Amino acid sequence: MRCVICRQAFDFAAGQTAVVLHHVAYGYDFAHPGACEAAALGAIFPEPGYDSAAFAHDPERRAVLATSPSKGWSAVVSPAQELRPASELRFEPLRYWALVEYRDGSRRFEGVVRNDEWLDEPGGAEFPESRPGHAAVGYVPPPALHELKGLVEVAA
Ligand SMILES: [Zn+2]
Repeated sequence: MRCVICRQAFDFAAGQTAVVLHHVAYGYDFAHPGACEAAALGAIFPEPGYDSAAFAHDPERRAVLATSPSKGWSAVVSPAQELRPASELRFEPLRYWALVEYRDGSRRFEGVVRNDEWLDEPGGAEFPESRPGHAAVGYVPPPALHELKGLVEVAA
């Protein structure tokens, strides 16, 4: 995981944390507390209809304290808020797990998705658990993913 401003990797083992930032038009990104955080919050998103601050603090997530390899786990994503048949569920490979500290002080791991074409784009990270217009997701390890894919193919 790299800082959206200085592009340096976060040194979680040395006690660094990553401030969670929400992009005005896209997903999420991360910055070192202090100068990088201030630079990100001061950046403008100069697109028609926006022309406003590119980033704001995430109202729920304060910081990422550590990351862990995804080890083949995927997020299960529904295309709508209401229940949908299994054939409409999508599986999105996690890029890594993030140990998130929330504003109420609680901590837990969340999956993070970042598509290859968004690797270097500010706001390119996504927390599948809070994507607008989508149902809450679950996570599946690699063997279960294969089983579910089989079920989806049979159902379709
Ligand atoms: Zn930085």
